[in-house]
Amino acid sequence: KPEVKQEILKKAKDLDVQFIRLQFTDIFGVMKNVAITRDQLEKALDGELMFDGSSIEGFVRIEESDMYLKPDPDTFAVFPWRPQEGAVARLICDIYNPDGTPFSGCPRNTLKKVIAEAKEMGYTMNVGPEAEFFLFHTDQNGKPTLETHDKAGYFDLTPVDQGENARRDMVLTLQQLGFEIEASHHEVAPGQHEIDFKYDDALTTADNILTFKYVVRTLAQRHGLHATFMAKPIMGINGSGMHCNQSLFKDGKNAFYDPNGELELSEDAHYYIGGLVKHARAMAAITNPTINSYKRLVPGYEAPVYVAWSARNRSPLIRIPARRGVGTRVEMRNPDPSTNPYLAIAVMLKAGLDGIKNKIEAPKPVNQNIYEMNAAQRAEVGIDSLPGSLEEALVELKGNTIIQSALGEHIYRRFVDAKQLEWDKYRIQVTNWELENYLTMF
Ligand code: GLU
Ligand code: MG
Ligand code: MG
Repeated sequence: KPEVKQEILKKAKDLDVQFIRLQFTDIFGVMKNVAITRDQLEKALDGELMFDGSSIEGFVRIEESDMYLKPDPDTFAVFPWRPQEGAVARLICDIYNPDGTPFSGCPRNTLKKVIAEAKEMGYTMNVGPEAEFFLFHTDQNGKPTLETHDKAGYFDLTPVDQGENARRDMVLTLQQLGFEIEASHHEVAPGQHEIDFKYDDALTTADNILTFKYVVRTLAQRHGLHATFMAKPIMGINGSGMHCNQSLFKDGKNAFYDPNGELELSEDAHYYIGGLVKHARAMAAITNPTINSYKRLVPGYEAPVYVAWSARNRSPLIRIPARRGVGTRVEMRNPDPSTNPYLAIAVMLKAGLDGIKNKIEAPKPVNQNIYEMNAAQRAEVGIDSLPGSLEEALVELKGNTIIQSALGEHIYRRFVDAKQLEWDKYRIQVTNWELENYLTMF
């Protein structure tokens, strides 16, 4: 598309862009940057810029290390917080092999593959994430602490500390980057915040989540704070989730809505939920990918623990918000913001499509409080638990070929190997808790 290229080149010139960051992510969703100057931009837009893939975790072996970056022109954006003279812009890229084929270790390509599968069935997916995070103070050396000096609570209106100012700045900056902010509020825990932006198609949302995290971290730093998206930084208070609202559209209409269906949900919606329920335990390895992720998924902190769905109740894994019509959607509540958004959305979409394809019946919705049921009562109505640890999730993933196929062989293998290693390293730690409980007792 030569016009698009010319348009970006002109924009870069008009806005006095000096540096362009070519962004992509590794399989863990960690953002990588290659900075180029404007005179290389044309070459970059032609997909001719090569980089050494062996330096990126989970990418390639040394002998096949040359990779090409193909920027997606739709993602061109100028960073509002950088100087406006000699500005800095970014482009999000797909990774290609030297032979011109999409590289199967690129999470963005992986998501695109599942999106294409949905399209073949006539569907497009929309996703709206609700990412929560903590803002902590840094010490004299700039190192993050666990201090918040924050007395605010859920939806508190008075700005009682720096965190509120920082969040305001984040919202303004995101708006300058074209985000439509739907809500921004203090969360339940001290120092915990949430900023919700408008849903978009699956790929744009995955890109947006990365940009969002980048903006939040950068702006926090400018306020002398540290933003963390780890799932459970502090024991005993709420952790951070990234609930994912999702819907399918077909022929321009919300395919989850049927005014005559059960709960005004269509058959597609019921089967989609069936797919999410069926694959939830295996998907957890992706949607909750760290050791720490599983410390969030415990009773008492508004995070899901059991595999169930409901239109009435906030506690289950899958909630159906009240909105109907074009806003009909399914909210998956276990993902946390340490997930790789491309892979998380890819596996959720895959699970839902599997539900539709194979007419997987959703279990009955659970409207009573699952946390008040005992194990026997849960077993009686067939309510499973989410994995209790990363190790348990990995076992599930290893036994689930549908979720593996969404990831593709390359990412699946490397992901499982890396996460197994992470688990093995963790397993041999001797923690303070153990010392406190055993050192003097035995
Ligand atoms: N922080 C909660 C979680 O871990 C979610 C709170 C909410 O419902 O917004 O998922
Ligand atoms: Mg929240
Ligand atoms: Mg929510």
